Amino acid sequence: MIFTHDTEHALAVVVDLINTGAATSGAEELGGLAGLRAFVDRNSFSDVDELTEADLVRVLDLRARFHEVFRADGVPAAVRLINEIVGEVRTTPHLTDHDGYDWHVHFFAPGAPLGEHLAADCGMALAYVVAAGELDRLRTCEAPDCSRVLVDLSRNRCRRYCDSRTCGNRMHVAAYRARQREAAH
Ligand SMILES: [Zn+2]
Ligand SMILES: [Zn+2]
Repeated sequence: MIFTHDTEHALAVVVDLINTGAATSGAEELGGLAGLRAFVDRNSFSDVDELTEADLVRVLDLRARFHEVFRADGVPAAVRLINEIVGEVRTTPHLTDHDGYDWHVHFFAPGAPLGEHLAADCGMALAYVVAAGELDRLRTCEAPDCSRVLVDLSRNRCRRYCDSRTCGNRMHVAAYRARQREAAH
C-alpha cells in the first residue's frame, strides 16, 4: 500500500468525482440530484442525509478544483490549489471506525454538508500525496480521446490508463497489433 487505507479511499472518491464529468460519451453524470445521490451511494459516505441543489452546485465547483490539481503544472501550483481547498473549509479531525472500517481520521465536521465533507477529507488526502512527494501519481489517462483521471497506486508507477474497460482493453489491443506488425517485418 502506498498511502494509508483512508487516504487511498479518499483518492478513489476524488477520481470518481472528477470522472463523473469526463465520461467518454460526453455525458454529465452530475446533471441533477439523482446523479449526485448515485455518486454518494456508490462511495458509501457516512452522515449524508438529504441532498439539495446547493450541494450539487458546491460539489460541481469542487470537482473542477480537484481536476485542476490533477492538471497542475508542478508541485507549487498543486500546493496553492490544495491549500485553497482545505483552507476554506471548517475541519474537525477525529478518529472513527464507522461501518466496519479500521480506525481512520475524518477531517470534516460532524453534520457538515457534502461539499464540506469532500473538501476536507479529499482535500487532505491530496495534501498527503504532495507531502509524500507523490504528486506524479495523479494522472490523466493516456488513451488519445480519454480525459478521465487516475491515481497510480502501482509499486513501479506504470499505470497509464484509466479504469474504464474501454481504455485498458483498447490500448492492450493496440499494443498487441503493434507487436504483430513488428513480428511480420
Ligand atoms: Zn470514514
Ligand atoms: Zn481512459
